Amino acid sequence: MKVHLKQIPPDGLHLEGEEDCLIQELESESVHCAGPMEYKIDIGISEGSLWANGTLKQPVELSCVACLEKFVHDITVPAFAIHTELQGPETVDLSPFMREDLLLNLPAHPRCDREGGRVCKGAKAKSTPIEAKRKPDWSALDKLKLKK
Ligand SMILES: [Zn+2]
Repeated sequence: MKVHLKQIPPDGLHLEGEEDCLIQELESESVHCAGPMEYKIDIGISEGSLWANGTLKQPVELSCVACLEKFVHDITVPAFAIHTELQGPETVDLSPFMREDLLLNLPAHPRCDREGGRVCKGAKAKSTPIEAKRKPDWSALDKLKLKK
């Protein structure tokens, strides 16, 4: 995502829109782009530096570590912020900065139920036996009483 410095007015510029998924070349078996990246950023120039801040959202398909099912997760960068010195060129590419922040916010051990929208089958299988044990079993006690 390239920004032309001449197009940035003195009081800054608000940019909002969609950009092709930036982490395509870093895709692996467990991470796939699931749509374009949404961005809302403000950029500006001050004293020979370019600053930018805003929010990013990138939907990706991940594999759950508990049940191995694929699910879509939105990587969100709530406080994307850069401050970089201008070094001559008339355009600055924001993509490397955005890519780095997206990867920093990628969950290391993704769980399909982390947002509460669905029940993880891996987690459900573990909790069922505990429920069963809680029910008191009186049949053994009844037999004891009969023997007396
Ligand atoms: Zn799961």
